[in-house]
Amino acid sequence: MPTKNASKEGRYSKHSFLVHGKFWSRKWDFEHHVVPPITASSTFRLETAERGAAGFCGYADPSEHAHERGDIFIYDRLDEPTRAMLEERLAYAEDGEAAVCYATGMAAIAAATGIFLKAGDEVVAHRTLYGCTYSLFTNWYPRYGIRVRYADLQKSVPLTRKTRVVYFETPVNPTMDLIDIAAVAAAARKRGAAVVVDNTFATPFCQRPLALGADVVVHSLTKNICGFGTDMGGAVIASRKREPDLLLYRKDFGGALAPKNAWAILVYGLPSLELRIRKEEQSAAEIARFLESHPKVARVSYPGLESFPQRDLARRQMTDFDGSFAPGNMIAFSMKTAASARKLVDLVAKNAYTITLAVSLGQIRTLIECPGSMTHSALPSEVQKGGGIDPGLVRLSVGIEDPGDIIHDLSEALARC
Ligand SMILES: *Cc1c(COP(=O)(O)O)cnc(C)c1O
Repeated sequence: MPTKNASKEGRYSKHSFLVHGKFWSRKWDFEHHVVPPITASSTFRLETAERGAAGFCGYADPSEHAHERGDIFIYDRLDEPTRAMLEERLAYAEDGEAAVCYATGMAAIAAATGIFLKAGDEVVAHRTLYGCTYSLFTNWYPRYGIRVRYADLQKSVPLTRKTRVVYFETPVNPTMDLIDIAAVAAAARKRGAAVVVDNTFATPFCQRPLALGADVVVHSLTKNICGFGTDMGGAVIASRKREPDLLLYRKDFGGALAPKNAWAILVYGLPSLELRIRKEEQSAAEIARFLESHPKVARVSYPGLESFPQRDLARRQMTDFDGSFAPGNMIAFSMKTAASARKLVDLVAKNAYTITLAVSLGQIRTLIECPGSMTHSALPSEVQKGGGIDPGLVRLSVGIEDPGDIIHDLSEALARC
């Protein structure tokens, strides 16, 4: 099968590549489909014992040109074609060499950090993190003799000789603070620590951390990249040399992305990423300005606002495939008290047509939640307070509805708070 490699030719835009992928890929086992089929085969015919042996021997082979060999599919958890096509596209979208997909974002985060760590090692993490990542680092890693030190990476990167991984999200979930990827990467490189960035909020459309010096990118594919709220998934994108460990971690810990989920993300999610985020970003800017001018709203944090405290960093770090400023679709805003935030969200849940009270984010539907008592409730209240999660904080994930309708629904609820 010939390999028509659009990405290497560099002739086509990233957006076109996310629609068509490599078209004829080594991972593509089917000759006449226009849409990649959903594969549903947990095991694969091997034809001869020799081919079976070669498949096992070549799996996760760290030698230099191993990835150029044709794949021998053996068993779904090891590798399979639909997920592999998604991996090719994700690697390209993130300016990385290799992507490995997992069952969920948390499985991807466990792999992205786990491949670097053993007992006695240390992780330095930003003090505000997605609740389950915080729980993994706080409740599980210490049991394995891995120490996690929390720091404010906006201010300093306190590395020691034992630090193997520096971990953060930017924009930070849920505060929308930014961490300077290039600055943290420069500090970590001096100490030989790997920088792992959770790029779930920004998506590769708005920010490509590997190009800014990060070593590893992780995603919850469940969010912006799936985009329709139908499937869970996670991905790790890194250089080719990390791929064997990422594959072995998946093979042995077992959190492989199901091909049926990979298919939805490959066929609907990635091809529509640019279209969705552009629309949502435009609406988010309008909604953020509305919120900022509303007397009942204490504070709004959206990287696209003129008032955003890290305006210069935002413009430097968050750029789309064409190099234009791309502040994304997520807004954080604060009501004056926790009670008024709850009241607002309850009024929205009861009356709003375009806004749904639900966790998760990055869907075509606008979602609202209270991070302090919901997605980030795993963080103790003093950790929340120190990290900018004030009790009145509300998180809004802007969807593709008419922005005027979203503003109408917010405005009706705010009027009664
Ligand atoms: C949701 C989320 C995760 C976890 O992803 P799952 O797919 O739910 O496991 C990790 N990081 C961030 C920033 C998230 O929003």
